[in-house]
Amino acid sequence: MSCCSEAVALPKHKDMAKVAINLSTGALQQEEVIVGIDLGTTNSLVAYIHPETKKPVAINDLGRGTIVPSVVHFTPNGETIVGNDAKEYLTTDPSNTIYSVKRLLGKSYKDLGEHKDYFGYKIIDDDSEGLVKIRVGDKFYSPIELSAEILKELRERAEHALKTPVNRAVITVPAYFNDSQRQATRDAGKLAGLEVLRIVNEPTAASLAYGIGIDPAEEKTIAVYDLGGGTFDISILSIHQGIFEVLSTHGDTYLGGDDLDRAIINYWIQENELIADTLNRDKNLQQELRLKAEEAKKTLSSNEVYTSNLGDNIECYITRHTFEELIAPIVAKTIDSCRMAMADAKLKPEQIDAVIMVGGSTRVPLVYEAVSEFFGKPANNTLNPDEVVALGAAIQADILAGNRKDILLLDVTPLTLGIETMGGLMDSIIPRNSKIPTKAGRQYTTSIDGQVNMKISVYQGERDLVKENRKLAEFDLKGIPAMPAGFPKVDVNFILNADGILKVEAIELRSGVRQEVEVKPQYGLTDSQVEQMLMDSITHAREDVSARMVIEARTTAEQMLYQVERFLEKNGEHLTEEEINLTRENLQKLRDALPSGDKDQILKAVDILEEQTSPFAERVMQISIKKAMAGKKIE
Ligand code: ADP
Ligand code: MG
Repeated sequence: MSCCSEAVALPKHKDMAKVAINLSTGALQQEEVIVGIDLGTTNSLVAYIHPETKKPVAINDLGRGTIVPSVVHFTPNGETIVGNDAKEYLTTDPSNTIYSVKRLLGKSYKDLGEHKDYFGYKIIDDDSEGLVKIRVGDKFYSPIELSAEILKELRERAEHALKTPVNRAVITVPAYFNDSQRQATRDAGKLAGLEVLRIVNEPTAASLAYGIGIDPAEEKTIAVYDLGGGTFDISILSIHQGIFEVLSTHGDTYLGGDDLDRAIINYWIQENELIADTLNRDKNLQQELRLKAEEAKKTLSSNEVYTSNLGDNIECYITRHTFEELIAPIVAKTIDSCRMAMADAKLKPEQIDAVIMVGGSTRVPLVYEAVSEFFGKPANNTLNPDEVVALGAAIQADILAGNRKDILLLDVTPLTLGIETMGGLMDSIIPRNSKIPTKAGRQYTTSIDGQVNMKISVYQGERDLVKENRKLAEFDLKGIPAMPAGFPKVDVNFILNADGILKVEAIELRSGVRQEVEVKPQYGLTDSQVEQMLMDSITHAREDVSARMVIEARTTAEQMLYQVERFLEKNGEHLTEEEINLTRENLQKLRDALPSGDKDQILKAVDILEEQTSPFAERVMQISIKKAMAGKKIE
């Protein structure tokens, strides 16, 4: 799978990737910087390689600091504000201020599970397997669009600070991100006007920043401990011949610096009745208290005591010793994760060559000590833990730009390989620039009840609509047993071997029905055609992404129409006439919105229909449960 190993090196192979080299060595856009971007849950940064010192530097535009909080605020007139200025609206205008959007990337509403209430803004539940959308006023945004706002801000800051256009980037993602989260990150880059040369794992980038894995002769096993604002992960990597292989990852996507702040707040409330009293009376103080707690935590990373005033006469006091007692259970939890990751990788602490600290929260001395003790060696923390991922991404960008001649070269695939999904969209399975051989796959299902055949069309290219890409093959997976829509599970696997031959296989898991085809993607394709395809995807990037979003909205709408109509047919008897009429009206409104080609209008109609009909399903369920119980009694 593409998430499990990564190559740092530059693409080079006589027919696999000649053109990618031309592009990345600047044949088309010479002398251009390629930036490295850490798109974080809490904070984001952009870095580049300084042309004179050749060292990575995080960009600090207009002296605003290198860190850009990953917060997007929508003003009443629809403009967006990103970063520190947006953060201020988190408490004053939560429904128009989006934070932690990275948690939603590539996810469906169902994926959010128990964490649905974590978010202070409205996430649309269309009860589908489709990706989540966020409602801000009358507009609907995908996490991709919101992440793109953050990337645009980073891009603008880089362009402003470096005084040059920035069109290409390497973006980092957590090692545990799946294909759909990685694809969403690529799309966000695209929407921000960036050509994403590669998606790199955050621990890989951190390792590169420390210079580990740059020399291909080096063989190492490392641990990367990343404690950020709201997430924690530990990754064990094996590095050999310039390839970073993720041996294991562990962590908690809802554990981070915020929990340390909360521990301090609870302590103050418990210690000082005046604080609890005042808080009840004055809600604005809550935010102030939160900020104070974070300030206290940061102060205690380098001082023994913190003291400050809240309002006129309330004292906030805490010592490092107390703080450490409060957070010991949280730190212990992260060490448990380290233990599990090591067990999964089947390694002992003494087999780890280096431990790398990433994320602002690793500045807490207790965290540093606990990690160093667990691994039995001092962890690396000489680089700024907030910046280290972005710095490494910049190094990876520099390698891809061909500026490091000493790097091992690997074979890669020059164009994306994927299949057609509903609405004529390209669903990428093996992204371009993936090293070969490689194997990747995804699961699909049917959209119509009783569907027994599924057409698999294989395409090559970078455009969002398959009609703009190159068709490689097509086959029917026949004999799927008749089941309701959404029930069959069809695994589609792409296996690209070292000779560039692609095997595509489709298997319906419930029945075992199977079909496969083999093609040679590069056959009959000249270098200049590949180059043209890449260029086209860059020039059409924005319109492609917008077209994709409209098609996705339409697909969601069509599925919703199908489901609600079917529901009315089957269960109409349990609804009142009034309810049926209103449902019919809302169905018609949705049908009318479809041809508009306006995704917000379509999604709004979906949302209205969804809110109106969602109680019905539950009612019908209750009725059928009652019936079943009644049946039992008669026996
Ligand atoms: P993410 O990767 O999740 O976007 P970061 O790596 O930027 O997050 O970490 C942000 C967290 O680091 C915040 O909770 C912040 O309070 C914390 N942090 C920053 N500086 C310090 C410090 N000096 N001591 C303790 N925690 C810190
Ligand atoms: Mg981070």
